[in-house]
Amino acid sequence: MAAVTADVELAGMSATVPRSVGHISGLVRSGGGYWMMLHPLDGVGGAESGFRVVFGGADPAPDRQTPVTPEEVGAALAAVHGPETALGRLRWGTRFSDASRQLAAYRHGRVLFAGDAAHIHSPIGGQGLNLGVQDAVNLGWKLAATVRGDAPDGLLDTYHAERHPVAARVLATSRAQGVIMNPPPDSDAAALREVVADLARLPDGNRYLAGLMSGLAIRYDLGDENPLVGARMPDLALVTAAGATTVAALLCGGHGLDLTLGAPGPVEVGERVDRVAARAVDSPVGAEPAAGRVLVRPDARRVGGDGPGGRGGPAVVPGSAVVRGSAARPRGVEHNSGLAGLSRAESLLLKVPAFTDSGFT
Ligand SMILES: Cc1cc2nc3c(=O)[nH]c(=O)nc-3n(C[C@H](O)[C@H](O)[C@H](O)COP(=O)(O)OP(=O)(O)OC[C@H]3O[C@@H](n4cnc5c(N)ncnc54)[C@H](O)[C@@H]3O)c2cc1C
Repeated sequence: MAAVTADVELAGMSATVPRSVGHISGLVRSGGGYWMMLHPLDGVGGAESGFRVVFGGADPAPDRQTPVTPEEVGAALAAVHGPETALGRLRWGTRFSDASRQLAAYRHGRVLFAGDAAHIHSPIGGQGLNLGVQDAVNLGWKLAATVRGDAPDGLLDTYHAERHPVAARVLATSRAQGVIMNPPPDSDAAALREVVADLARLPDGNRYLAGLMSGLAIRYDLGDENPLVGARMPDLALVTAAGATTVAALLCGGHGLDLTLGAPGPVEVGERVDRVAARAVDSPVGAEPAAGRVLVRPDARRVGGDGPGGRGGPAVVPGSAVVRGSAARPRGVEHNSGLAGLSRAESLLLKVPAFTDSGFT
């Protein structure tokens, strides 16, 4: 598959041209052998609007390096939205494909790969940007600790171990999605599509697919059977002695987080780990967070504690810890084991001497 994405100005619009951004099903249309998604960039859709257009189906599809021309965009617009839909100006255009590829190794010595440089796949499902940002967030604090010289041996290699299986999974699901969306004619994939559609209507199937597509269900194997260790810390709304905040806001500094949930208390910004006492007032995943302590990596992964995310916390927080990555643990890298291993975890992952004085061992 080869396709075009471009920003255009329209000199004329038929009634079928979407005037507002809505559900994707209302933006997609086909005709004359093309499929097309078209939506206004300003959400208004008047004559002044620029439009984003994505289309494919041209036969033969030009090579990916061939510049996008106004003629081909104009022809596609007219074929899908009728002759009164005329191109005014092509602002820019580029080509993409559904190629599905991934580097075998994300680290080559001092060179580390993240984002589309490490993995490409069909844009179906809209997962690429999220995947790349999560690569960067996973890598950033490990790289910083390595550059500072206080990372334990092997910490940087956990980047590949944790992130490679996640992208492999996305590549697999986007390929499956491509087949399910457009089953090859006369293939059994059409029957498979019906089965998958039925499963997606079930709450558990729906939750599974949502966790998969959003990336919220990813859990790294940190060597602990507790399903919350290695899972994402939910972005709880919190009240501290310093006022209202959220877990995400507390993690913005790129530090680890030692969060004691229960009553509002001080926010102490450390050199590498911030200590915060807070009352949780809301959870986006619907769970009532238990009181207790949780240690969170700078990339929002729970590594232990005696509250949510550690031993003694709720067994399962809905919406998290559904998919377990198959990352092989790199040799020589130890992993924490919940409450008993917390000081080991922090010294291993965060190297914060103050933690060992916290009476948390
Ligand atoms: C049509 C389409 C729709 C998409 N829709 C979604 C979506 O809805 N949701 C989603 O999550 N993802 C979506 N994606 C995927 C998403 O766009 C990419 O995964 C994401 O942009 C990758 O980000 P990146 O920073 O890794 O790479 P890029 O965005 O490719 O950024 C790399 C940058 O490096 C620059 N560069 C390259 N070589 C050099 C060089 N030698 N020197 C200096 N600079 C260089 C490039 O110009 C570019 O600016 C879509 C992709 C396409 C094609």
